[in-house]
Amino acid sequence: MSAQKLVLSQRAELVQALSRGGTAEGVDCVLDLLISWGVLLWEDYVCACVLPEAQKTGLEFGKCVSVVKDDREPSTMATETLLCHRPFLVSRLRDHVDGALEHLLGRGCLTSADREEIQLPVYTSSQQARRLLDKVRFRGEDSAMVLLHYLDRTTSPPPPEKENEQPFWLVYQKKLCSSILAQCYFLSTCGGAGKYSLDDVYTDGLLELSQGCGDTQVSLGLEDVLGQVGTLNEEADTVLVSGQAGSGKSTLLQRLHLLWARREALQDFLLLFPFSCRKLNAEERELSLRDLLFLHCCWPDRDQDKLFAFVLDNPHLVLLTFDGLDEFKQSFSDERRHCCPTQAAPMSTLLFNLLQGSLMKGVRKLVTSRPEAAGPSLRQYLRKEVLLKGFSPGGIDCFVRKHHQDRGVASGVLQALQSNTALLGLCHIPVFCWIVSKCYKELLGCGKGSPQTFTDVYLMVLQHFFRRKSPQQKSLGSSWLLEHFQTIMHLGQLAFEGLDASCYIFSEVDLQNSGVAEEDITIGFLIHSKNFSSTDERHFEFLHITMQCFFAALHIVLSDKTNLNQIRTLFQTQCKSKGCIGFCQPREQSVMTTESSNPQITAKFVSGLLSQHHSDLLQQSCSATMLGKKSKCVVKCVSKGVQRHFKSIPQPVKGEKKSMHAMPSFVWLISCIYEMQDSDVAMNSVARLEVDHLKLTYCNIGPVECTALAYVLQYLRCPVGLQLDYNCVGDVGVEQLLPCLPVCSSLYLRNNNISDEGIRRLIDKGVHCESFKKIALFSNNLTDACTQDFAHLLKTKQIFLSLRLGNNNITSRGAEQLAEGLRCSQSLQYLGLWGNKIGDRGAEALAEALKDNTSLVWLSLVGNGIGNSGAQALAKIIQKSKTLEEMWLSKNCITRVGVEYIVKALEENVTVKSVWLRGNNLSQPEVEEFQRECRLIF
Ligand code: ADP
Repeated sequence: MSAQKLVLSQRAELVQALSRGGTAEGVDCVLDLLISWGVLLWEDYVCACVLPEAQKTGLEFGKCVSVVKDDREPSTMATETLLCHRPFLVSRLRDHVDGALEHLLGRGCLTSADREEIQLPVYTSSQQARRLLDKVRFRGEDSAMVLLHYLDRTTSPPPPEKENEQPFWLVYQKKLCSSILAQCYFLSTCGGAGKYSLDDVYTDGLLELSQGCGDTQVSLGLEDVLGQVGTLNEEADTVLVSGQAGSGKSTLLQRLHLLWARREALQDFLLLFPFSCRKLNAEERELSLRDLLFLHCCWPDRDQDKLFAFVLDNPHLVLLTFDGLDEFKQSFSDERRHCCPTQAAPMSTLLFNLLQGSLMKGVRKLVTSRPEAAGPSLRQYLRKEVLLKGFSPGGIDCFVRKHHQDRGVASGVLQALQSNTALLGLCHIPVFCWIVSKCYKELLGCGKGSPQTFTDVYLMVLQHFFRRKSPQQKSLGSSWLLEHFQTIMHLGQLAFEGLDASCYIFSEVDLQNSGVAEEDITIGFLIHSKNFSSTDERHFEFLHITMQCFFAALHIVLSDKTNLNQIRTLFQTQCKSKGCIGFCQPREQSVMTTESSNPQITAKFVSGLLSQHHSDLLQQSCSATMLGKKSKCVVKCVSKGVQRHFKSIPQPVKGEKKSMHAMPSFVWLISCIYEMQDSDVAMNSVARLEVDHLKLTYCNIGPVECTALAYVLQYLRCPVGLQLDYNCVGDVGVEQLLPCLPVCSSLYLRNNNISDEGIRRLIDKGVHCESFKKIALFSNNLTDACTQDFAHLLKTKQIFLSLRLGNNNITSRGAEQLAEGLRCSQSLQYLGLWGNKIGDRGAEALAEALKDNTSLVWLSLVGNGIGNSGAQALAKIIQKSKTLEEMWLSKNCITRVGVEYIVKALEENVTVKSVWLRGNNLSQPEVEEFQRECRLIF
């Protein structure tokens, strides 16, 4: 029979096999059929299996033998049977791989090494079945017989009765789980040698509700991401996890997928469909929802119609996840409505209607994105938003120890981080933690010159990969950049053009166009893009988006084709096209949004690379004049950008302070200055800032940004109030802020995960800073252990005005220690201890210390479990004070007796304007009776 006839006669089987889109499964199924028909010789089959995906399509079976399915004698050889019935056996075996392995092992047909190899979690169950068949066939007749008997007994005859059959969705669920397990087992950045399983290295990141979704300080667990807590809009189905690049969003999603597939979490959802927006970008066809689910995730072998109906009928049992919305080439828009699940539409329409809820209402969707990409039009459709804030200090410790089995190495890395707090600050972002752990040899070997900036860290990883390529060279020579210049330029061009076109996955043609050769790939910055479904070509992506930005920056800096206008464009602060740098595409071609995270990261690297600090390295491969011009241009752009912010500050209303609420790009510009590590640039850019109050609330400021802020703000001419409420400063961030403490008159750090350790360091420095007079630390993790430090501050600094420690964990013991400082303070005017647990004993201690105080104006002890004896003691302050104006005692457990002490004290006081007593233990008649004293407020 001719090949053509064969294909025609077996068309139905081939079509069915090929239509298993989304994975290599389709091609593998065809290969199964071909080998079973004898069209392929075993050698051809093996070659085809190891071919890159791209070449599988072009298979030519030149050596095919003339034996075809119909002409062959039924075989009596068991090994032959394994070949002839391969497609059937794969489908039989795939749900019984573990059992079959045990059986074969027990009979000495396979070794445990064989078993481990077959069961590698990166294989789907069908792939495991194929490997098992191959191994057994090569063990010979006896082993093949054992397997066939086992399959006969275990899997056949198939259950005859319909009611014994597994529900159709369960069969599909198993396939989904198996494909998800295969995809999620290893971390993507750990591609190549030294793979780490997610189980081995996954470390919990800090998850918090975003502003407006409830108590933002509560830290959440993984299950809470899709749980009820923080729900803002019950009608909406989309949950957003947002975080900056490298904060661990994809890894978190990967973890959730893995737990679901292993039945360890999210078991309310029977089906989970994972999508990557990066990959959806490549879908140019119009698809129906059904195609999207089945073609892009996992093809159901049967019952497609029933399954799709099941999904539509049971939306609450289905979860869709979309990783990296920021990388989707179009910005979210709700202009085009599409509600029909069977009607085809462009990918963007499908995606946006799913998120917005017109399509598949009731199906929960979990989306990850950098915050910039989730604008107000998407936010109105959100069920809730969860912020991923990277690692806590404990998380860094845990990650490093998980990464290094060798305890000595782990301790060495942790020590190196402790002695370089700028680097420790960077490690709060998991991708940096990963780089630092990966490059531990370089880190431990670099002594005092250990990395300080984003750019330093990425140059370190660059050297690491090049060194790995030539292991005989223990350390790279000083001209390493020159030696690898061509590779850097090829990858740089690929990265740069990719960013410019919002492209993060590259075909082999893209690689060729940028001159990226096989040897450039082997260095390791590019990894294979797993399960890229649009074609069977090989596809690649950079290890991480930040790596792509770094190579783009190298291209901008090193290429003599970059002109200064391009650099100016990169540093423009407003309105960049989505993801796009805007060099190659005319502006109007892309949708304009404020999303500009990739250009901002690239600009930061450009600033760092053009710093004086790295000029020796760069001058080896390009002209000093060109670098000098580019560097000057960057300095000018950044300084002008900062000045523009200052000019935008409105003139203060008479009597009020001049206050600047920073725009989002302000922190980025400051970070660019920090990357340059040039104090003159820092000084010049803030020299003209005249402002009393700098407000940077909700700006996603972590330790890294604190390092940069302090580096620049230390050069301010006049002291400012620095308001950093609702960020993620933490103890490391506090330490990073210390260089600018001398120019801070007040520091506002509400809700910033700060603990006693951070306070200790802050006060050590603060006592020596002349201008430092106020601090607000509501809602942090403070305990009694920090009150001695505050006491020391109050004793030492007789100009200190305001101490606000509300909503922490201070008890009576802490109040007693604080009292020691209060006793000596002649200056404190505001003391806030709202929402602690000082109780009567604490109140008595404070009252005792303040009895002769001549400065206190405002005292808040709301919600502190204070009863009558506390009230009696506090009444003594009222009685004697000539300065106190307000005392807040709401939400305590004071009764009539206690209030009577206060009333009495008020009779002798003329300064107090109000004593707040709402929410104490008083009846309505008692309240009415006490209202005769108009300064009592109930
Ligand atoms: P994002 O999606 O936010 O850009 P990724 O999830 O890609 O960040 O994280 C970048 C890298 O950081 C990962 O490849 C991994 O090496 C490391 N990483 C991130 N989160 C974790 C985590 N929770 N545990 C261990 N490593 C992590």
